[in-house]
Amino acid sequence: MQIQNYINGKFADPIAGHWLDNIEPATGKAYGKLPASDAQDVDAAVSAAKAAFPAWSRTPVEERSRILDRIADLLERDLETFARAESIDTGKPIALARSLDIPRAVANFRFFAGAVQFTHSESHVTDRPAKALNYTLRQPIGVVGCISPWNLPLYLFSWKVAPALATGNCAVAKPSELSPMTASMLCKLASEAGLPPGALNVVHGLGAHAGAAIVAHPDVKAITFTGGTKTGAAIAAVAGPKFKHMALELGGKNPTIIFADADFDDAVSTSVRAAFSNQGEICLCGSRIFVEQSLHDRFTDAFVARTKELKQGDPLDESTQQGALISRDHMKKVTDAIAFAQSEGGAILTGGKRATISGRCADGFFVEPTVITGLDASCRTCQDEIFGPVVTITPFANEDDAIAQANSVRYGLSASVWTRDLGRAHRVAENIEAGTVWINCWLLRDLRVPFGGVKDSGLGREGGEEALRFFTEPKNVCVRIQ
Ligand code: NDP
Repeated sequence: MQIQNYINGKFADPIAGHWLDNIEPATGKAYGKLPASDAQDVDAAVSAAKAAFPAWSRTPVEERSRILDRIADLLERDLETFARAESIDTGKPIALARSLDIPRAVANFRFFAGAVQFTHSESHVTDRPAKALNYTLRQPIGVVGCISPWNLPLYLFSWKVAPALATGNCAVAKPSELSPMTASMLCKLASEAGLPPGALNVVHGLGAHAGAAIVAHPDVKAITFTGGTKTGAAIAAVAGPKFKHMALELGGKNPTIIFADADFDDAVSTSVRAAFSNQGEICLCGSRIFVEQSLHDRFTDAFVARTKELKQGDPLDESTQQGALISRDHMKKVTDAIAFAQSEGGAILTGGKRATISGRCADGFFVEPTVITGLDASCRTCQDEIFGPVVTITPFANEDDAIAQANSVRYGLSASVWTRDLGRAHRVAENIEAGTVWINCWLLRDLRVPFGGVKDSGLGREGGEEALRFFTEPKNVCVRIQ
């Protein structure tokens, strides 16, 4: 299972000949190799993208759209193969890859293939009677760098690449070295769909080498990055002084706020899903649950009971709900965070340790879904992103207290609020510091809406019109009329 780079429409070995192991998280064993690319490979990819840009950016939008739609069709045709590959590469349950990851990648290509055909730009008439007519051209930027993480590999890779290509840019993309498989498989489909060589280039390797080389390359004019806040800051430090366009989707420590009047069963089952979907490795997971004091004990009992019912096991088993974490290092980070929570005085109500799975997954990176109570919102466990199957439950006294505790972190990605009081729902949504607030739901996504975070959760917005704007440069043309 040797993955190669994809440059100028061809698969290629890394120039320096260095390779990395690709590990299957569920077994802890290497099952393939991928390039450990460096600046030379990135340079080749950027040159290919630059050469392809004049023709691709002038390709009629209907044709670009048709190619992206074809990629979506081919992905749909191969959905089962991609779902299995994503599950093996990341440790996520195959049922989740089949129902969420790959369908969403299909939707990303389909959505931007359609959306780009319905774009419009503004015009402004200066004075009356008209002295001048201004109109805005929205032109593709050129070569754009797309850097994506390991938790939702093809989902987030396509979230960047699809709008970049739809708007006429050429992309140099780097998936996480921990989850390179489906991006590589997608390259084959891109060729089959008729995407011209050089429009999409994929360079595999470590963030510190291949990723950093993309960010620093003078011919890469925009960077769209999804990943950790620390990496985002490192990228901004390099890209900022070079005045590159930047969209940074970073970490989160999202609150789930449950008022006593919430629909109890719905709030419990959805908040369990929000806490533990994809083993808690989704930036939007609700990892801090705040419950109105009068409901706290009842809610906690029900939440723990539901958590205990989650079936953990081989990700390739159809009934598995909790798979493996992405890597040995990440598993250690999560179990260390649980140990630290205990040292801070947290009580573990369920979970709390590495899970042992028998059979082929005996050496896999599994951690039990873990529920912690008894910690104040200001302690480190409630402040730092753990990005694993770990959730805290904390009581609140009233609406103001709920908002204050929810906002007490440096992150501001999303929040989920549970109440039947419409006025309160709107008030809380208005006052929560987050890019997305869900009322009585979680992860209900509409691809047209702006997506991104405030505070340390990021910079800029993606999704729908925002993505089409991010990947184009507005130019004002002023025509004198009299
Ligand atoms: P990282 O920040 O470690 O890595 C993200 C990507 O950036 C990877 O492809 C990585 O490569 C690459 N990278 C690392 N260092 C550099 C660098 N110096 N220059 C350029 N690229 C670099 O995040 P993770 O992959 O660990 O993903 C988890 C994080 O992502 C969590 O914090 C999570 O909250 C966040 N996230 C945010 C989302 C959002 O929409 N806001 C959505 C999903 C996740 P490599 O892996 O090879 O090191």
